[in-house]
Amino acid sequence: MSDSSSYTTTDSGAPAGSDEHSLTVGAAGPIVLHDHYLLEQMAQFNRERIPERQPHAKGSGAFGTFETTGDVSAYTCAGLFQPGVKTEMMARFSTVAGERGSPDTWRDPRGFALKFYTAEGNYDMVGNNTPVFFIKDPMKFQHFIRSQKRRADNNLRDHDMQWDFWTLSPESAHQVTWLMGDRGIPRTWRHMNGYSSHTYLWVNAEGVKHWVKYHFITDQGIEFLTQEEADRMVAADGDFHTRDLFESIAAGDHPSWTLKVQLMPYEDAARYRFNPFDLTKVWPHGDYPLHEVGRMTLHTNPTDNHAQIEQAAFEPSNVVPGIGFSPDRMLLGRVFSYSDAHRARLGANYKQIPVNRPRTEVRSYSKDGAMRIDPVSDPVYAPNSKGGPAATYPGQPEPQWAADGEIVRTAYVDHPEDDDWGQAGTLVREVLDDAARSRLVDNVVGHLLDGVSEPVLERAFEYWRRVDRELGDRIAEGVHAGTD
Ligand code: NDP
Repeated sequence: MSDSSSYTTTDSGAPAGSDEHSLTVGAAGPIVLHDHYLLEQMAQFNRERIPERQPHAKGSGAFGTFETTGDVSAYTCAGLFQPGVKTEMMARFSTVAGERGSPDTWRDPRGFALKFYTAEGNYDMVGNNTPVFFIKDPMKFQHFIRSQKRRADNNLRDHDMQWDFWTLSPESAHQVTWLMGDRGIPRTWRHMNGYSSHTYLWVNAEGVKHWVKYHFITDQGIEFLTQEEADRMVAADGDFHTRDLFESIAAGDHPSWTLKVQLMPYEDAARYRFNPFDLTKVWPHGDYPLHEVGRMTLHTNPTDNHAQIEQAAFEPSNVVPGIGFSPDRMLLGRVFSYSDAHRARLGANYKQIPVNRPRTEVRSYSKDGAMRIDPVSDPVYAPNSKGGPAATYPGQPEPQWAADGEIVRTAYVDHPEDDDWGQAGTLVREVLDDAARSRLVDNVVGHLLDGVSEPVLERAFEYWRRVDRELGDRIAEGVHAGTD
């Protein structure tokens, strides 16, 4: 029995006539057009789905707090990273290639997107669970994603297409090695690290600059699913990761991650042995050790997944004073493409949706557009002599870097130890143990046996031999044994 004070209303707040019966001409007669409540129900339902993200469509998230426990004030004046500061934040985890209903345990990198509601505006870190990426120039991104999604003819995902792209893009080798290894299928989102992957620029209160990479190290420990376990889970529970996060938080088991950063003095970049802005490379820990910054804890589940998670709009362009971009071309491309995706998916005023709304006062000159909620007042232009805001922020200016040269279309200039294979080979030989190497071989062999044909197959063997001769031979043997 519902209490009469909580009766159903229409979306305009007036009492609804019935939850069960349409308005008809007599009990057996037709439905009348002026049953506006029925029409509202049907029309709203038809519009419930919004365009899904392209990529990172399947995911979920939660809200939490970031607390700065270390002291990195010598490196950045960003308010959220000053000792003792606590900042409300949210996180969304996702797979990359699958659609909204796709299984959580497919082999894929995981998105690790964070939004910090800081006292200086929103700060977003849109990272992954891997410190590197498949490509290093945004010109290739669209092609890369299409090769991982579905064919035009049969609308199926296709390993031949994936390996065709990867083997013709040797810069992918480091990330593909990572993906085919144990970390390619985390046990849960709670059991994976998050990395900025990109290099950013930090500036302190005196204007001193450092390049920085973020590592969110899971406090739950790294755990993974084997390919077999993951395949079984696809059938048993396609939403396994979504469920795990929600149920853990609901049960009071709040996952946390410790943020550590690698810091490179600004001047080191030009002469470092690897190009520090190349997204397919890490900075070895031995060169740039980790410094502890703080801890993020997720403690609150969404109550409306659509409003709070599906409509969450993360964008690397959300930086705050003390933090800037870098010459990483992928980062510079994403600074445009994310906000553009949100405008297309959610509308021009997506930053007024509560989950995206900064906790600070907005004093921009943006106006109008579909679904604008916040009223605009005059003056609507700058500069003006009418008392409107002016860009006179007194703190550190947005950190920038020196650049000159002719305008060209060309690859990065290699640093002394840059190549496509070296760091992938280090991962295989120096980080993985024998058992992990064997699982890597099995995972690659299984993937290649699932629809990869010549000439892509032979190129794939060569690709792996370039990563590690013995590994490539084992993969070729495994595939030949599987096709005999
Ligand atoms: P280190 O020995 O200092 O670090 C190796 C790192 O590899 C570990 O700290 C861990 O990263 C990560 N790792 C451990 N097991 C796996 C696995 N199964 N799959 C993927 N990564 C794993 O060596 P270096 O810093 O000199 O780097 C050597 C190689 O390690 C790199 O070429 C890169 O492939 C990989 N790596 C390096 C990272 C870096 O930022 N330097 C980060 C992650 C991997 P974590 O502590 O982050 O869990």
